[in-house]
Amino acid sequence: MRDLIIIGSGPAGYTAALYAARASLAPLLFEGDQVGGQLTTTTEVENWPGVKKSILGPELMDLMREQAKSFGTEIASATVTKVDLTSSPFKVWAGDRMEEAKSVIIATGASARRLGLESEKALFGKGVSACATCDGFFFKDKKVLVVGGGDSAMEEANFLTKFASRVTILVRSDKLRASKIMAERAAKNPKIDFVWNVDVVEVLGVAEGRVTGVKVKDAKTGEVKEMACDGVFAAIGHVPNVSLFQGQLELDERGYLKTNDGSLTSRPGVFAAGDVQDWKYRQAVTAAGSGCMAALDALRFLEKE
Ligand code: NDP
Repeated sequence: MRDLIIIGSGPAGYTAALYAARASLAPLLFEGDQVGGQLTTTTEVENWPGVKKSILGPELMDLMREQAKSFGTEIASATVTKVDLTSSPFKVWAGDRMEEAKSVIIATGASARRLGLESEKALFGKGVSACATCDGFFFKDKKVLVVGGGDSAMEEANFLTKFASRVTILVRSDKLRASKIMAERAAKNPKIDFVWNVDVVEVLGVAEGRVTGVKVKDAKTGEVKEMACDGVFAAIGHVPNVSLFQGQLELDERGYLKTNDGSLTSRPGVFAAGDVQDWKYRQAVTAAGSGCMAALDALRFLEKE
């Protein structure tokens, strides 16, 4: 039986692994299918402390992975499919592989929220995307729409102007949630314009097999109109990846893993770090910080045991 299993490979998971490995816990870390987590879908990270100007998201995650490994983290290139955290030893499955541990750190992060439309589902990957870094390249000299009013939407829109001829940001209210600096950067970009108070009610082009436009409804007047475009990027926030733990651990009112007293979940010996338990800050640096907390909490738990 192992001392510690870590589920997730974002800044929280790798930082937890680094601390646990340096404390000789020889943790086993399951990477999941998005190795490196959400930061691998980002380009320049300008707010990671201590780097000169910026670092590329995937490069930062590679460095974290190597550092965690160099101190003795065992990395499993597999996705956890089932857990039993109801009693100790805790059990974690990745397909047929089953591992047991005295403690578990959950760092499964969050995933991009979808608009929830049938037409969005049908055209996903055919002009609908949730990741400008991954798919922006396909929209050279095309017209694209970005849905959302937060920092993600501003960032995606700015990035898309490298390729697209026109980027229109659709905001469902009359105000942005984005930080001032990000909003100003988007507003100053000559290729970007904003349309306010609109809800996307349908993505058009299902019959053609590619996005041809969207149908939007004016939130104030109820008027429905069509807007032509070649691509739609939803940047409307995130949902925590908690499905594995539902019914086994307590969630908060927003659906995130509930933690108390640092990183402890509702089950002694099971800890959570990063975006899966944080609806508020959701930054790489806060995720890494909470990964460190979870490793220290696990260490203290194991010492007491
Ligand atoms: P946010 O929750 O901050 O913003 C989500 C946006 O999407 C809001 O404008 C919201 O509108 C809108 N929205 C939600 N649901 C819908 C819907 N169904 N239809 C249309 N619009 C919708 O999420 P972000 O992903 O933008 O940011 C998350 C966190 O990550 C933040 O803390 C942010 O600061 C950070 N971040 C930082 C970056 C950086 O500093 N480089 C880059 C990207 C993110 P409403 O306001 O009406 O609810």
